[in-house]
Amino acid sequence: MSNTTSISQISPVMATYGRFPVTLVKGKGSYVWDDKDNQYLDFTSGIATCNLGHVPNAVKEKLEEQLQNLWHCSNLYNIPNQEKLAALLTANSCGDQVFFCNSGAEANEAAIKLARRYANKVKEKESPIIVTFHQSFHGRTLGTLTATGQEKIQQGFSPLMLGFSYLPFNDIDALEELISIKPAAVLLELVQGEGGVIPANKDWIKKLEQICKNNDILLMVDEIQTGIGRTGTLFAYEQFEIEPDVISIAKGLGSGFPIGAIIAKEEAAKGFEPGSHGSTFGGNPLATAAGLATVSHIIETKLLDQVKEISGYLDSQLQSLKEKYSFIKDIRGKGLLKGLVVETNALEIVQKAISNKLLILTAGPNVVRILPPLTVTKNEIVEFIKALEKTFQSIEKGE
Ligand code: PLP
Repeated sequence: MSNTTSISQISPVMATYGRFPVTLVKGKGSYVWDDKDNQYLDFTSGIATCNLGHVPNAVKEKLEEQLQNLWHCSNLYNIPNQEKLAALLTANSCGDQVFFCNSGAEANEAAIKLARRYANKVKEKESPIIVTFHQSFHGRTLGTLTATGQEKIQQGFSPLMLGFSYLPFNDIDALEELISIKPAAVLLELVQGEGGVIPANKDWIKKLEQICKNNDILLMVDEIQTGIGRTGTLFAYEQFEIEPDVISIAKGLGSGFPIGAIIAKEEAAKGFEPGSHGSTFGGNPLATAAGLATVSHIIETKLLDQVKEISGYLDSQLQSLKEKYSFIKDIRGKGLLKGLVVETNALEIVQKAISNKLLILTAGPNVVRILPPLTVTKNEIVEFIKALEKTFQSIEKGE
């Protein structure tokens, strides 16, 4: 503070978020509580992060155990949890090797660096280009906001990075253009999350994969929002019957403890060697204890069988709502990543839902995004639909 005698009204926290007027202090399962002890049904899961619900015992116990032993050590030493988590992720994906970092943006940054270095050093391609898609979202670092195909995210941050080209998503003609660009890699979400919950067309993705294979282009999927069971399979790419070269993950991986990673096929992983990339905290003992507990729990309890069933129930309930309310134009998404396309203002619905003790999100101006934890129950979905209907009715009455 430059002048300690004046009482400043300025928040000590920088204003980078438009926050809702709620202060959350406690969570358990599908519920959170504010500082006045009001209980809310949380169908945001910390934006697809608390996939096992809030404070899941399976992860809490492993974190507490790790807290007693070692919190952090440098990546210059072997980290057993990191090795175990890497082995679990590669055993349950098409990838062979994992690099750990701390967030989604960092995971995509690692993917971008890997693609560039693989092109430069292994393939000896000059000035490698990475193709991404319109409406995509890949993060807020300079590299990942350049990769993001949305002007609003890039505005004010020029000069942006070189080496990116953008094509329309789900567009068959774009595939022809891809062949002519001959990039080093493509990076894409299989369900565009922030861009409006838009799933990729399966035939389009399969053609894209074929073009990548035939033209020596790395296929990199951003599974930061879709990964770790969110869409009903551990990774969304499984449902598209493709095999990406690089998968980026974060969010749900640590159940709320910050951790990110890329999983790469052996060939693509040749892009990195000792000294070419790194992170102080990436994959530290605590973060990988959380990751290991989360992924083990999902696999051991066969949680994804339950997700497939419960997401079918959520679908049917949302379809009934659509039949009742004409302003709902479409229901999109996969598994427990759902978007209600509305003719009205999605933000108004989200704001009004808070007074009905329901937390939901937007994905752009006309999409309400619904992200319950993977552990959500049928009763909680019934409660959710009731609170959402109450919200719709109060909007219709102009309250
Ligand atoms: N990629 C996708 C698809 C995302 O949804 C997000 C976050 O919303 C990111 C990347 C960035 O992740 P983080 O906020 O952890 O940096």
